[in-house]
Amino acid sequence: MSPDQQLLLRDCFHIQPSSISDGIRGADVLIGNGSIVKIGRGLQPPAGARVIDCSHHVVVPGFVNTHHHFFQTMTRNIPAVQNAKLFDWLVYLYEIWKRVDGEAIYWSSVLAMGELLKTGCTCSTDHLYLYPRGIHDDFPGLQFKAAEKLGMRFSPSRGSMSLGRKDGGLPPDTVVQDEETILADSERAISAYHDPAPRAMRKLVLAPCSPFSVSEELMRQSARLARRHGVRLHTHLAETADEDEYCLSRYGVRPVELMDRCEFIGPDVFFAHGIFFNDEELRTLRSRGAHIAHCPTSNMRLGSGFCRVRDMLDLGIPVSLGVDGSASNDSSDFLGELRHALLLQRVWKGSGALGAREVLEMATVSGARALGFEGVGKVEEGYAADLAIFDIGRMEYCGSLSDPFAALLFAGYDHGTAYTICNGKVVVDGGRLVGVDEEELIREANRISAGLLAG
Ligand SMILES: [Zn+2]
Repeated sequence: MSPDQQLLLRDCFHIQPSSISDGIRGADVLIGNGSIVKIGRGLQPPAGARVIDCSHHVVVPGFVNTHHHFFQTMTRNIPAVQNAKLFDWLVYLYEIWKRVDGEAIYWSSVLAMGELLKTGCTCSTDHLYLYPRGIHDDFPGLQFKAAEKLGMRFSPSRGSMSLGRKDGGLPPDTVVQDEETILADSERAISAYHDPAPRAMRKLVLAPCSPFSVSEELMRQSARLARRHGVRLHTHLAETADEDEYCLSRYGVRPVELMDRCEFIGPDVFFAHGIFFNDEELRTLRSRGAHIAHCPTSNMRLGSGFCRVRDMLDLGIPVSLGVDGSASNDSSDFLGELRHALLLQRVWKGSGALGAREVLEMATVSGARALGFEGVGKVEEGYAADLAIFDIGRMEYCGSLSDPFAALLFAGYDHGTAYTICNGKVVVDGGRLVGVDEEELIREANRISAGLLAG
């Protein structure tokens, strides 16, 4: 199919245009030139358009993933750290990750993006902070090649780690780089790949890994470099109590104050996790416009705790969703992440803590804003044609159709889309990826994973 072929989604059982609407039934959606052209009943397909019967389907905006580590798909479910907490889990896995090379980056990116697309996510970042010594591949370039193959809207980061074990950091010295190299390559990656257009298919983020793996000065210099070029900033923050202790003992301040000192708080910053903020820190984040990438599955998996999403939304802090790396999820199931976000808040605050439509807003338009996209994240005329289409005519949805959209979160167990559309192109067709041979992907991923584990 050519990129500008028109599509008509016929007789949609339910369209969820935005979180505040109850949805529309029985309408058609006309797509052309990468955009939603028209939504209405009884639309005629233009000559040559492909018509897709959506009479058993819920159509929602494609989800936006704001935190991941694609390379970790190769090291899921490792027995030795299945029950470990974050710092122990990291120290063990770094010894495997230090063997990651360009081939592993490419195929793990295809794999993670493939899983995301198949579970409704059309736009993602990736936090790749690992640059093993002796490997000189262009990691962002390989990841963009994978995104293009699959047809995904993509804003990865040029991540970094500069504080190895000999300097008091957590990672081995062989996976960190010196700060001059990091900043020079960050600038190169921005000029090679970042497209400032509001609905670009390629953007770039700068993302020092965490307060315990980069220096204060690298945080500050990364922030300044990002602002000179108008790119987003990202890092892990306040994920565990160990991090609080580390920052207090090394820097004499808690993580948010450290970020403030590094000029690393603002509307152009999205922080992953944000579990251990106190009330005053939440007010600081609110007044400075910073975004939070909430990762409920990872937080439960590592036993890290839970993010105070209800409090953040009430204060007006923008919260988006991320599946986090595949060694702490251990999947890239995006619809599953919506369900976990809904349920985890209720463990904390009761049955009224969070509704399905609030979660949808986090998973779509809030994610797009965090990553700096405009005109992305809603099913509305003029918006990007990034859509996830789920078949709810199946057995597991029977009895739940009084609210077809919420059925996706409350009912069902197969989180795969029937179709995923990104930038007007069908990228998952009948439940299968269009851009890659799935059998080849499985073979390559298992081969590379086995090699990494064998050492
Ligand atoms: Zn992470």
